[in-house]
Amino acid sequence: MTIKTSPDELIGRGARDGGLLFRDWFDSLTRAAQNDEQAAYVFVMGSLHEILLTFDLHTVFPEINSLQTAVRRVSDEYLSLAEDQGFSPDVCGYVKADYALQLRGGEHPMGTIPKPSIAVLTNACNTYLKWGEIWERMYGIPMVTVDVPGTRGMSRGGRGPTREDMERDRRYVEHQLRELIGQLETLTGKTFDIDRLREVLDLTNRMGRAWREVLKLNRSSPAVFDAMMEGTIFLGVANALRGTEAGAKYFEDLVEEMAYKSLHGISPLLDHGVDYGKEHRLIFVGVPCYPIFRRFYQLFSEWGGVFVSSTYLWFASGGLNLDYEYDLSRPLESLAEGVLLGVQRAGDSMLFHDRYLIEAIDEFGADGVVYHPIKSCRTVSTGLADSRRVVLAERDVLCLYIESDMMDKRVVSEAQLKNRIDAFFEGLDSRRIRKARADEAAPASSPA
Ligand code: SF4
Repeated sequence: MTIKTSPDELIGRGARDGGLLFRDWFDSLTRAAQNDEQAAYVFVMGSLHEILLTFDLHTVFPEINSLQTAVRRVSDEYLSLAEDQGFSPDVCGYVKADYALQLRGGEHPMGTIPKPSIAVLTNACNTYLKWGEIWERMYGIPMVTVDVPGTRGMSRGGRGPTREDMERDRRYVEHQLRELIGQLETLTGKTFDIDRLREVLDLTNRMGRAWREVLKLNRSSPAVFDAMMEGTIFLGVANALRGTEAGAKYFEDLVEEMAYKSLHGISPLLDHGVDYGKEHRLIFVGVPCYPIFRRFYQLFSEWGGVFVSSTYLWFASGGLNLDYEYDLSRPLESLAEGVLLGVQRAGDSMLFHDRYLIEAIDEFGADGVVYHPIKSCRTVSTGLADSRRVVLAERDVLCLYIESDMMDKRVVSEAQLKNRIDAFFEGLDSRRIRKARADEAAPASSPA
């Protein structure tokens, strides 16, 4: 591709522009709260953002609001308030932070969050259902749950779903989307505009094409971005600005930046003064430790660790990682198919990721996998030990298993994490040295 921007402007642009777009988005939510405009509360796995945009509803992602309280180091205030009201320390930290945010009238470190006019959710996580019921009780709002069938891996004697199975499931989702549209027409007083949906889907298609290109560019050696640090910024924009011109352009610009970095061998580790010749290519499983986010990242980057991919980028990107584009000649039918595929893959990426991890190890040339089970999200922490066993049996990589939390700093011990992470990298380093010595000792192969 032709690169038209100067290197100074280009390098780091994705992180800079992502931060600005995100701030603008929170400002728009604050204005919506001040002007009492209608907002839909949604979740990252199956947000149905495209339909909501056609009704000009603001979309609020409570998961993103909650994680931002941790990144901004105030989640403990929110968690304590919810626990004072009777929530157990074991309940999903995102739910508790959001409940406290509602009690505080939407007060958030990035602005003010508007109250919901409707909640729209899928069954991608069982917590979503109970979470939605909290808003239903607090505000008396309608709650629409789209039931998305999971992957039918065991049907037909383990051969997976047939085309007919998928079509039946797609029609089931489509029927529910049509019901949702009816409820949105009643709520907003607006008539559904299918041409507007077509425009929005087209913008999501552009975003998805660029997103997949960005993911692929991280096969480069050195990698061009860290899937945990920069990846979290990218995920924020992918969710909040899905189906918008600004979101599509952001990812198209990001392709330009990452292509430049790939061409010139520019690693994200350069920011930390680490010689990228020593890059350790890792895959991250789970959700990051947000209460000490930057430090958590540094515990890896200081050793030359770069996350080349992560299950987070797979399950929290609304299906953008899938090679699927909406068919604009049949927008609603195609949207139903996209929701079905996206939510199925999100569930599989959280619960049955061993196959995807093995594929990613090969695709990205990874030499280590980091499993991060967290106390307050059982959904992403389930079965990780089994996944590790399968991955270790099938690929010659090292695996690290560290526990903390994505919200609750009371269960985050930086010293313990550092201890385990240091030992992991010492293992990776000594494997590298042994391999280099073995390569040196091996007789040079002679031409046949
Ligand atoms: S996936 Fe985890 S963090 Fe998200 S709502 Fe479910 S339990 Fe909470």
